[in-house]
This record gives sequence, structure tokens and C-alpha cells, in this order.
Amino acid sequence: MKKISVIANWKMNPPTKKEAENLFSEAKKAKNKNCELIICPPFPFLYLGKGLSLGAQDCAFQKSGSLTGEVSPHMLKQLSCNYVILGHSERRRTFGESFDMINKKAKAAISSGITPILCVSEETKDELIAIDEIREQIQAITKKISFSKIIIAYEPLFAIGTGNPCPTYLAAKRRVLIKSIISKINQRAKDTPVLYGGSVDEKNCKEYIEEANFQGLLVGSSSLDPKKFKKIVESI
Ligand code: PEP
Repeated sequence: MKKISVIANWKMNPPTKKEAENLFSEAKKAKNKNCELIICPPFPFLYLGKGLSLGAQDCAFQKSGSLTGEVSPHMLKQLSCNYVILGHSERRRTFGESFDMINKKAKAAISSGITPILCVSEETKDELIAIDEIREQIQAITKKISFSKIIIAYEPLFAIGTGNPCPTYLAAKRRVLIKSIISKINQRAKDTPVLYGGSVDEKNCKEYIEEANFQGLLVGSSSLDPKKFKKIVESI
């Protein structure tokens, strides 16, 4: 059986190194043999995560150069970072990342041996527009990329950081839609893991795996609460 991925997106948290050390040591206590735990801390704390599977929250698409503030996938790989979250809605909205940029970043990550976790969001409540939006997004960000080398995370905008999780029936519908879109692009895409993210907590986590059939979870706020996070990992 393929393992369920639980990805912790710490965003720009916690504020201190000491708190990061504590979060890492608490994460190590969360045990579930059916689950692969991936911690995505801010860049400066990656080196503290030895012994855990690590991901970054962004990367550049260039290898090196005069690009103030950027971090390349090649550099991340040297910190034992095997995953990178790309195209998170916060990066697209706050930092103006385009789908083309996300696609370039994903290709660069793959070239460095890093698996991109590509976020797919939904910004409207209109069903027909949402379906087109998801399709266009997936086609743009996965252009000329092998589906065997990526993870997709469905993260509806209304659910991210709001405490307003996506109803399970809707999330399930979207998972089927995403699977059908990617399978039409490439037959082999049927094995691409599709995860759910958006206000996941210790009470609702199981539903997304057992009822909506997602292959994992992308967890924001609840990953900063060691008790909640441990419960999530151990209950799925
Ligand atoms: C996220 O930002 O990727 C996320 C899932 O956040 P939260 O769990 O806080 O909604």
C-alpha cells in the first residue's frame, strides 16, 4: 500500500530557532507506519530538521546568479530537501507568481531531484468557472512535466487558513475532477498523488482520506500545534 503523505506547511513560522527545534522534536514523536511525514519549514530552519523528510516552501527556477533573495533547488537539495511546495495561493496572490513561473520552478526542482508539490486552488464559488479554472491551472503548471515526478495538492481558497474546511463531498468531487483532467493529459497520471489542504485539523483529517480518497494532506495552522499535528498523523 502506498503511504499517505502528511505535509506540514509552517509558512513563516515559528518566529524563533528554539521554537523550530521544539516543533521538529515534537514532529518526530508523531508515529504512523502508513504515513510519510514531510516538514516544510522556512528556509533558515531546514538544517534543523535532520532525521525528518524535508520540503521547502518555494524555490527559484534558476541554478544561481544575480537574483537577490532567491534560493535555488540545487541549494535546497544539498540541505537534504527532497520536496518543495510550489504555487501556493499565498505566493500567487501576495508575490504575483504566474502559472508560467510555477511551471518553470517545477521543472527546475525536478532537474535537481526535488519533487514539486504543486498547489491547485479554486478561487470562485461558481461551479462551472471553478472547473475551468482548475483545468487551466493544471494544464499551465504541469506543461511538459512528467506526472510521475509530482504531487498535486488541491487547496480551495475559501478553506486556506480560514477554519472553514471544504465539505468532504465537494473535496471528493474535486479529487475526481483533478484525476480525470490529469489522466486526459497523460495516461500515467493516474498514479500521481492528489492531496487535500485547507483548514485540516485533528477532527476532519480522516474524512479527506477515508471518504474523499485523497492520498494525503497539506496542513498549515494545525502543523504548528504539536498536539493537533500528532493526532492528525496518528489518526489517519
Ligand atoms: C496551507 O496554507 O497550505 C494550508 C493548508 O493552511 P491551513 O491548514 O491553515 O488552512
